[in-house]
Amino acid sequence: MTIQTRFAPSPTGYLHVGNIRTALFNYLITKKNGGKFLLRIDDTDIERSTQAFEDEIKWDLEWLGIEWDKTVKQSLRFERYNEVLDKLRKEKKLYPCFETTTELELKRKKLLNMGKPPIYDRSALKIPSNELKLMLSEGKMPHWRFLLTQQKVQWDDAIIGNVSVDLASLSDPVFVKEGGQFLYTIASVCDDIDFQVSHVIRGSDHITNTATQIQLLETLGSSIPAYGHHSLLTGLDGDNLSKRFGSLSLRDLRLSGIEPMALVSLLSTLGSSKPVKIFHTYKEIYDDFNLDSFGATPTKFDPELLHTISTKVLKSTPLGSIKENLLKIGVPKDKIAPFWEMARDSINKREDMIELWDLCENGPKVVASNEDGPFVKTALKLLPLPPYDENTWHSWTEEVSQKTGRKGKALFMPLRLALTGQSIGPDMSKLMPLLQIIPSR
Ligand code: GLU
Repeated sequence: MTIQTRFAPSPTGYLHVGNIRTALFNYLITKKNGGKFLLRIDDTDIERSTQAFEDEIKWDLEWLGIEWDKTVKQSLRFERYNEVLDKLRKEKKLYPCFETTTELELKRKKLLNMGKPPIYDRSALKIPSNELKLMLSEGKMPHWRFLLTQQKVQWDDAIIGNVSVDLASLSDPVFVKEGGQFLYTIASVCDDIDFQVSHVIRGSDHITNTATQIQLLETLGSSIPAYGHHSLLTGLDGDNLSKRFGSLSLRDLRLSGIEPMALVSLLSTLGSSKPVKIFHTYKEIYDDFNLDSFGATPTKFDPELLHTISTKVLKSTPLGSIKENLLKIGVPKDKIAPFWEMARDSINKREDMIELWDLCENGPKVVASNEDGPFVKTALKLLPLPPYDENTWHSWTEEVSQKTGRKGKALFMPLRLALTGQSIGPDMSKLMPLLQIIPSR
């Protein structure tokens, strides 16, 4: 069986870590099984969807190295959705309703006050047909609901096992809004059928949608994909992650210098029975990836852990993979190997390399503190002009120590500060050979 999956974001905002976890799970099972991965842009909400958000979504996926085989935009498929809606109308599976949002809200509140579940009462089905005809001929715009058959729907979920949802506990879903806007369920099911989606992996907030969708698929005589519902990510305090949406958008993570492979490594293991591990390639990840190692309980996402992993990923990046980056910031070809060897131990994100290379090329920006001024002056006089080698730091500090009697921190710290402008930083023995300028004596 060919695996066909899809990732279906709405271009109404930036992707966040929760969305990308869904994309990743679908992508990983696809790659593992040699299938096809579809990017579906769920843009039926024309007013809120923008091209700019769609571009951002694609950019985020590219940044993470998630490749898709085909893009589909729901806004280009309205004709097809109308065709399916007509079929449902003919079969009396779709019925027009005229309640306003306020009326529906009142009904809801009333039911809740009576301690009853707020399920739509289907009063639109009771409108006499002559009245209905009149309303439609007068141009009154209805919204359209799918008439659910009130029965239990069951499926064997790829993540949470056996699931059963009683459709009697749900309102008949609206498929088309009063203004004609197609809603998620109808568009999604049409697309899943037409693009032969075999596996739908998404968040557990979609469990009841799945029950409705299975019934719609059956009504339309289609086969049923395999479903898997992963847990939702929460903050460390168990709060819904979407409340912190801003700081955890992929765009922000990208701009803050997070390594893409760090995010991918964390999200592909977090919430599973496997320990969080650092991966460098997708193949390593999907070889080891199984949906059934994930559970239903909400999964805590710790941004600090992501930063720690990101630094580890960066430090363990092989020279070959970072070469382009180094050349771009101006490190000459013959220096990239020693520069990376020195830099990898002291940086947290790629951007830090810019400052470090600037130090090598132009010397420190900050002048060492005055209190050690005379000592530093004496020491610098003992330092020959560059170029240096990896023994320079050792031989120089030894000589300075002999001349001044200083040892340990009192010796090393002012010298590091004088040469780098920082009290912490890279291994000085590795840095010295790269220094092209030293402070004037
Ligand atoms: N656009 C929907 C969402 O982002 C897609 C859900 C689905 O995967 O079916 O929630």
